Amino acid sequence: MPPLTSAGKAVVAASSRHDLASPTSAAATIPVTREMFDQWMVPCYAPATFIPVRGEGSRVWDQDGRMYIDFASGVAVTSLGHCHPVLVKALNEQAHRIWHVSNWLTNEPALRLAKRLIDATFAERVFFCSSGAEANEAALKLARRYAHDRHGAPKIRVIAAQNAFHGRTLFTVTAGGQEKYSKGFGPNPAGITHLPYNDVAALEREFAEHGNEICAVLLEPMQGEGGMTPGRPEYLQVARRLCTAHGALLILDEIQSGMGRTGALFSYMQKGIIPDILASAKGLGGGFPVGAMLTTHEIASVFSVGVHGTTYGGNPLACAVAGAVFDVINTTEVLDGVKARHALFMEGLKAINVRRRVFSDVRGEGVWIGGELDTPWKGKAMDVVKAAGAAGLLVLVAGPDVVRIAPSLVISLDEILEGLSRLELALNRALT
Ligand code: PLP
Repeated sequence: MPPLTSAGKAVVAASSRHDLASPTSAAATIPVTREMFDQWMVPCYAPATFIPVRGEGSRVWDQDGRMYIDFASGVAVTSLGHCHPVLVKALNEQAHRIWHVSNWLTNEPALRLAKRLIDATFAERVFFCSSGAEANEAALKLARRYAHDRHGAPKIRVIAAQNAFHGRTLFTVTAGGQEKYSKGFGPNPAGITHLPYNDVAALEREFAEHGNEICAVLLEPMQGEGGMTPGRPEYLQVARRLCTAHGALLILDEIQSGMGRTGALFSYMQKGIIPDILASAKGLGGGFPVGAMLTTHEIASVFSVGVHGTTYGGNPLACAVAGAVFDVINTTEVLDGVKARHALFMEGLKAINVRRRVFSDVRGEGVWIGGELDTPWKGKAMDVVKAAGAAGLLVLVAGPDVVRIAPSLVISLDEILEGLSRLELALNRALT
């Protein structure tokens, strides 16, 4: 290589990190309005009229300084609330060490997080990614590849549940079985059969007729997006038994149900089953994007070097934060606290229903509860969410008929009570 000219050396010196000023583009300081979303963003979402700018625990403030109680947690993600000091510390410390190395190098936070997950679950091997859909995609690919390598080509069918939700990649959106999400993208991946959720007989029939073709059963232990329907333990146990008997793998999608949300570290731990593959995300990072696929050594061994991967999998920042999330959540104090909060929420929601009958059913596990709107109010769950925003409360829907609550696992008693009273106000305003 020719030696650098002095002009070249000057250019390099001036652009090295210590000499760079802190430039600010004009866009960095423009006043932001909600209308800009419609002007500049791909219209996949219809966000609320207000823009949150700050969060602390289970409280969020918008641009006008208005405070909202957070019963939504960014769709069951900020499992320890906003800006939890332990997570802020972990992120800050890692931010000063190293941000990204990719997978041709490994890193300490990723291996420390993997060890925590292995020690606490059935798993012996972990694959990291950045989202829930990616974790499920990896799980489905692994199951297909396992059947291909161990059993041969015809064993390709995946059994999933109607009304499920597994993410937005083409494979996972097809596995989800909700046409509103998968229509118009075809051809969709083939070989996926949807059966009614919690239907033991349908599962037994399917295996009796096609057991030798089935490579995997993919289930949520409780359906979240699809309407907040807890999986019955006997249903999940039958799925486990049939998979074992027919050489199929049981994949549990614990992206929403996992990391303490139901009062156990993972929901399978209280359903009397052990999966072959488990997908985690959402609460795992407490707000930092991270996903994980957990499995056994034997199953993982069909993925050799280069067969699957993702640039950001095991990112040090993500894994440092997730490690801190894990250490806070995987304690009796937090997990028992989730069960106590469940009782408080159920009591409060039932009391609202006594004063004004709006729900035909209130159900769920841990701090993951759905109120199904009664007949006169069917289809109005989104109206309740909007009215809740106006009353200073963040809540979610689970389909058109169910109002979903998924707060931080450590939300305070005062915030639960305040949030419930704001919810009652919203129900009164929306359901007239
Ligand atoms: N699986 C379940 C059960 C989910 O609830 C979700 C998201 O809501 C996903 C998968 C997809 O996760 P992500 O949006 O991180 O891709």
